[in-house]
Amino acid sequence: MVEFEYVTPSSLEAALQVLGDASHTAMALAGGTRLLIDVRAGVVQPAILVDLRHLDTLEYIRFDDHCVAIGARTTLAQIEMNPLIQRYVPLLAEMASSFGSPLIRTSATLGGNIASFAQVADAVVPLLALDSTLLFQSAGNRRRQQLSAFITDHRRAAAHAHELITEVSVPVLPGNALWFYAKLGNRKANAIPIASVATVITIQSQRIQEARIALGAITPAPLRATHAEAVLLNESLPLRDQTIEHCLAVLATELQDPLDDMVASAGYRVLMGKALLRKALYHLRPVEQGDNKKMREE
Ligand SMILES: Cc1cc2nc3c(=O)[nH]c(=O)nc-3n(C[C@H](O)[C@H](O)[C@H](O)COP(=O)(O)OP(=O)(O)OC[C@H]3O[C@@H](n4cnc5c(N)ncnc54)[C@H](O)[C@@H]3O)c2cc1C
Repeated sequence: MVEFEYVTPSSLEAALQVLGDASHTAMALAGGTRLLIDVRAGVVQPAILVDLRHLDTLEYIRFDDHCVAIGARTTLAQIEMNPLIQRYVPLLAEMASSFGSPLIRTSATLGGNIASFAQVADAVVPLLALDSTLLFQSAGNRRRQQLSAFITDHRRAAAHAHELITEVSVPVLPGNALWFYAKLGNRKANAIPIASVATVITIQSQRIQEARIALGAITPAPLRATHAEAVLLNESLPLRDQTIEHCLAVLATELQDPLDDMVASAGYRVLMGKALLRKALYHLRPVEQGDNKKMREE
């Protein structure tokens, strides 16, 4: 039987104290949808599980200086249903609606998904395309880091033990943005994805001013396809078939070391990544326009 101590701190500070104590191995427990499976399987052996469930201060979605700020303990179900997210960062709501199953979404948290360091972390893909920033807190310390830097930071596992992700800050999509999100799996619910794509494009005078393309479930970690993005700059809309095919050819060179497992072969994942990006570039969606000021005040 796996044995560990279980604590339920009543404040963030108390949780950070336990996590920061180097005399034992403590791990944060959020929704438990990954950690408890790993504990049971012996993949991790924490001496203490620090349950974050009672920390309401980490559960919020609000406007904060042109960003939507999301507390790390916010569940995927809350993200899926939230009107601010649906209006201002719709690809995040779209991702949440296809995450796991309705049951999993009520437990799984945004912070837990990012911190899992999993090859498949669905929330990371739209958050990368949205250029999101993470707030980390440890006992007596706070720091911010771009999600893109966190993903490629090889020291992150070591730092992880003493720090909590406490907030994810997502820049609001401007009115001249177009977006797309799609995930492909072998079935609709609780499927391990074969590929996912999130795209954000901003337009100035009918030309592409900025392009962000993120892909998940293909390479060992979600990635920003910066070379494929560069192909789209200054191109006019609608995109020419030739430009799209060039963009896809460049993307293929960026999908290094594709995952090859019982869910899908490496070749199939790359093929599906390209297919999803092709679909994205033909079906970019406008940001819903509305009474933004009223919405922000609500
Ligand atoms: C049936 C099923 C379906 C699933 N479907 C999907 C899916 O569609 N897409 C997908 O991406 N994943 C899926 N998962 C995996 C899992 O549900 C997600 O990764 C989930 O978001 C993890 O969040 P959690 O709150 O449950 O984290 P936990 O399991 O509580 O924790 C996971 C890890 O993150 C750490 N952690 C948690 N919160 C924080 C924090 N705030 N700061 C720092 N570290 C923290 C924990 O210590 C642990 O190491 C599925 C799992 C199951 C069992």
